[in-house]
Amino acid sequence: MQNTIGYAALNHTSPLVPFVFQRRELMAEDVQIEILFCGVCHSDIHQVRDEWGSGVFPMVPGHEIVGKVVKVGSEVSKFKAGDSVGIGCMIDSCGVCLDCLDDLEQFCNKAEFTYNSPDKHTGGTNYGGYSRQIVVNQEFVLNVSDTLDLAAVAPLLCAGITTYSPLKHWKVGKGDKVGIVGLGGLGHMGVKFAHAFGAHVVLFTTSSDKVEDAISLGANEVVVSKNHDAMALHISSFDFILNTVAASHDLDVFTALLKRDGTLCLVGLPDHPHPSSSVANLIFKRRQIAGSLIGGIKETQEMLDFCAEHNITSDIEIIPIQKINEAYERVLKNDVRYRFVIDMGTLKQSHE
Ligand SMILES: [Zn+2]
Ligand SMILES: [Zn+2]
Repeated sequence: MQNTIGYAALNHTSPLVPFVFQRRELMAEDVQIEILFCGVCHSDIHQVRDEWGSGVFPMVPGHEIVGKVVKVGSEVSKFKAGDSVGIGCMIDSCGVCLDCLDDLEQFCNKAEFTYNSPDKHTGGTNYGGYSRQIVVNQEFVLNVSDTLDLAAVAPLLCAGITTYSPLKHWKVGKGDKVGIVGLGGLGHMGVKFAHAFGAHVVLFTTSSDKVEDAISLGANEVVVSKNHDAMALHISSFDFILNTVAASHDLDVFTALLKRDGTLCLVGLPDHPHPSSSVANLIFKRRQIAGSLIGGIKETQEMLDFCAEHNITSDIEIIPIQKINEAYERVLKNDVRYRFVIDMGTLKQSHE
């Protein structure tokens, strides 16, 4: 075992504090990575506060990881020291089930998540990316292009793939009218991808102060969703709507905007159920409500390569690790444009 340092919540009411722990020694297929940047995902906050239950403490969160390879195991063929790499929400899966064989490891019943998930190698719990280094099997390590700003790449590993995957699955492209609900960490990536795929993009927001930002990110139109008249202009006109808002809200106002056979896809996991009573909205136009979860490793690499080719990254605010608790409070107030990324170099300076 090798010692490393990170920031952990010691229990579900504790702020994040410096925490020394161990990473496993390199096995044959392992890659050891020095973490340079880690994005702050809203789900980190849900988990350190144990709002989804089953939290294991101490917990080191973080699953939007970008860094440099330091060392590789004897059987590693895909990476070498010095490579820029990323780690997302998963670090292992069974490899033999139908989901794994279809490159959809995120749905594998034995998928191992980057933190707050049992580590089958040590019998302990996985610790995430708010730390100096991490050890991961090469099959779950992603190539990152050095042509992109590495800090701004970090959020692609969760927010990026969470929005890219459903837009691809439902074949969003030229000629499609696509809605994105919410302009946060997920929503701003949804706007960028839908725009890059050639769709006509309409951003739905509750705050009219986001109109200019949305247009500059690639939206063609912005609709304030509380404005009933503005919403009524779009009835039965959308091919696809990607809903990134997790807070409980009425879904019927969005299903009503879908064309026949249109899909409303949800990617935010709500703490409380969404009220949605109009089955007639679905039946009379064969509309669908669907969900989507991140993406498989193959598709995550495809997304990173697409971003390198089209110069797409996340809009970020960089923070030192010492500001993480403050950053959480700001995320809860939607006071970030559009993702906090921790500069993990600041952890080194203060604890070496
Ligand atoms: Zn996430
Ligand atoms: Zn599997």
